[in-house]
Amino acid sequence: MAKVGINIATGALQKEEIIVGIDLGTTNSLIAIIHPESKKPVALKEHDSISLVPSVIHFDDNGNISVGEEAKKYLLTEPGNTIFSAKRLMGKSYKDIRDHSSFFSYKIIDSETESLVKIQVGNKFYSPVELSSFILKELKKRAEHILKTPVTKAVITVPAYFNDTQRQATRDAGKLAGLDVLRIVNEPTAASLAYGLGLQKEDHKTIAVYDLGGGTFDISILRIANGIFEVLSTNGDTYLGGDDIDNVIQNFWLQKEEMNSEKNNKDFLNALRLKAETAKKWLSSKNDFEDELNGHRLKLSISEFEIIIQPIIDKTISCCKSALKDSGLQKDNIDVIVMVGGSTRIPLVKKQVSEFFGKPVNDSLDPDEVVALGAAIQADILAGNNKDFLLLDITPLSLGIETMGGLMDVLMPRNSKIPAKVARQYTTQKDGQGAMKIGVYQGERDLVKDNRKLAEFNLTGIPGMPAGLPKVEVSFLINADGILVVKAKELRSGVEQSIHVQPQYGLSDEEVEQMLLASITHAKEDIDIRALREAQTEGEQLLRTTEKFIQKNSGKLSAHELMETAETMQALQLALTMNDKNLIHAKTEELNNISRPYAERIMDEVVAEALKGKNV
Ligand code: AMP
Repeated sequence: MAKVGINIATGALQKEEIIVGIDLGTTNSLIAIIHPESKKPVALKEHDSISLVPSVIHFDDNGNISVGEEAKKYLLTEPGNTIFSAKRLMGKSYKDIRDHSSFFSYKIIDSETESLVKIQVGNKFYSPVELSSFILKELKKRAEHILKTPVTKAVITVPAYFNDTQRQATRDAGKLAGLDVLRIVNEPTAASLAYGLGLQKEDHKTIAVYDLGGGTFDISILRIANGIFEVLSTNGDTYLGGDDIDNVIQNFWLQKEEMNSEKNNKDFLNALRLKAETAKKWLSSKNDFEDELNGHRLKLSISEFEIIIQPIIDKTISCCKSALKDSGLQKDNIDVIVMVGGSTRIPLVKKQVSEFFGKPVNDSLDPDEVVALGAAIQADILAGNNKDFLLLDITPLSLGIETMGGLMDVLMPRNSKIPAKVARQYTTQKDGQGAMKIGVYQGERDLVKDNRKLAEFNLTGIPGMPAGLPKVEVSFLINADGILVVKAKELRSGVEQSIHVQPQYGLSDEEVEQMLLASITHAKEDIDIRALREAQTEGEQLLRTTEKFIQKNSGKLSAHELMETAETMQALQLALTMNDKNLIHAKTEELNNISRPYAERIMDEVVAEALKGKNV
């Protein structure tokens, strides 16, 4: 039953539950929705204030937690209880962040292990997932307050370079915050969507997304075709951003001789730092900054500013060069440039990025909001409000076919980019086999019975040939609509058959997750059963070929050889009925050892016979 709610703020009826888009950022986070009336994406704001919620969490002595502006106040005064940049720790072990540990002013537990980091506040320990969940909870609470309706479903963005562990950690944080995370979307993909890129089916474009935030810089080169975003390359610097610009301004002022007396004055330095950020923002629209602190005059002209920040911009441009190189493209192949992150408000940044790519940049949207707006668009697509458009970029689970012994043979591993095509050759097991069953499965387990069956069909009409001779090519093609076409073709005769399946449909994210989880919890069991099934298949094949050989060549074998072979075959047959891989291996080898000498002898005789009378 569809839920019906009333938005008290607008008085509008909401038939479907709203799915929100969330930009869970390193410095700031925000939440956006598609406005029920205008159908346009909007960032949620309380009382027309700003939409950004600083990604900062403060813990007071009584265990109370505050998030956002409220928490940010304590950054300098209570560094041990105030957590910032939790996103940098997502899915990381202490080893991963050791080189940057001085960056964090709170306590990160220094365990020399590979396990995920923990943060200590007072006598409590928190994981980055829990910390991120506090931010998400705050965003959820704000959204519910503004929308006057429960918010339980979300799309959350992550950097394009986030690996599986980091993506999973983000999902888990959502779950902890009481959100059903319908999709994790790449930040550059979301930013492009916000500019309407890729929303037309016929859109074919190559996009550079330049994202300079408070503490990180990312450049991503994306290609969009048929509603599918593909990340061609990413580059950047995880410790480069607006904070570094504040730093160079602060140092510029501190160089003045009159400042010598203040160099160790912590309070002064903190205040100066804030002035530096004010100056930076001021200079995005004005030419000169002037202020005063503790009787010191603080001056910065636009030309001075541009000189001192040039090395920072240069670093970002050199990352752009690397990203282009990795994508295998030239500057003129880039059709669109999208600007993301608060620091792209600096006119010199826009100018130099535009000069580098030789095109104007897209900067009409608020660079702080653009990722969340795109996430809201994606959420709307998932809600089914934009039925013509399907955003698929990777396969959630592996796709494969059933082979001997009920084993899953993966043709397309999970996370394959789509569209995609793969093919593999198989052959028959029996002489004169005229048909071959192709069972198509989705999942990560080793036995097809533990995976999800998508389809089955029979390739018939294979001309009679000895076992092992037919070449049956099975190909999987996932097209832009996410439809899987499975084709089987016998290459010698050209007989072919194909079938269309829709692998994504009917599986919720949760089911996908459960299937992935099952593959991990059953990993050992799966490895054992695969080894057993492989041993059984090998043993069965050897029995069949030996039997055939004996039938054909019994006259050429001694009575002893025949008897020994029959006995060993029997022993192998018995071993096959027992689930003991080592025993099957031992008996297979025994039969091989017995048959090899006479098989070689008979082969030599055949060759000698064939060569008789011929001059070699
Ligand atoms: P983000 O991480 O995208 O929220 O970016 C925040 C960064 O953008 C901070 O370093 C801000 O100081 C910076 N920022 C915000 N507004 C401006 C502006 N008008 N000019 C320059 N930098 C800005």
